Amino acid sequence: MIKDNLLAVRQTLKENVKLVAVSKYQPLDYVKQAYEAGQRVFGESHALEVRDKAEAMPKDIEWHFIGHLQTNKVKYIAPFISCIESVDSLKLMQEINKQALKNDRVIDCLLQFHVAQEETKSGFTLEECEQVLSSDEFALLKNIRIVGVMGMATYTEDEKQIRKEFKTLVANFAYLKMAYFSANQDFKEISMGMTDDYKIAMSEGSTIVRVGSGIFGSRG
Ligand SMILES: *Cc1c(COP(=O)(O)O)cnc(C)c1O
Repeated sequence: MIKDNLLAVRQTLKENVKLVAVSKYQPLDYVKQAYEAGQRVFGESHALEVRDKAEAMPKDIEWHFIGHLQTNKVKYIAPFISCIESVDSLKLMQEINKQALKNDRVIDCLLQFHVAQEETKSGFTLEECEQVLSSDEFALLKNIRIVGVMGMATYTEDEKQIRKEFKTLVANFAYLKMAYFSANQDFKEISMGMTDDYKIAMSEGSTIVRVGSGIFGSRG
């Protein structure tokens, strides 16, 4: 079943779009089934849960952290995490940098933007993000690599609204690329789209989609 869902989702992916299989709250057995179907990129939103799953699973998996990350939890994921997609403050960047240094590695990060209408969704505004990127403190961080942006659209049936929010995220990406990362080849990812809106997101230009329930079923 998970295998069939995965194959079905893969068939709808545009070329060069990376699929993150969001396995948060799903049992390890489900992660194994997806792994056996060839999936190697997984998304999780809790530090201890992803740490435990990463310990139990083969080491060729790319784990993406996609949830709100408290600074005191960074240490649990710093040894192995491939990408932290939910970076939304200088303080968090500084802690990721510190833990990456301790582990003698560079950790890929995406800048999360608040583009939805819901107040509950976290992320930078463009102004906040620019303040960070132009700060002296940010310039000191050598053990994080900013590889792009991430965002979530409002949970709504209104496709126009969703499109508008994805367009905002893409515009933020283009602006930051021009203003801060023009000489930086690493800054190239736009992570947007979940089970209900990833096709819309791809048509607006996502390079990464994060699909959970469409692969694993509901999280109960
Ligand atoms: C849970 C979650 C997803 C996956 O959501 P589905 O609707 O199950 O596909 C994607 N991105 C983020 C940030 C999430 O928290």
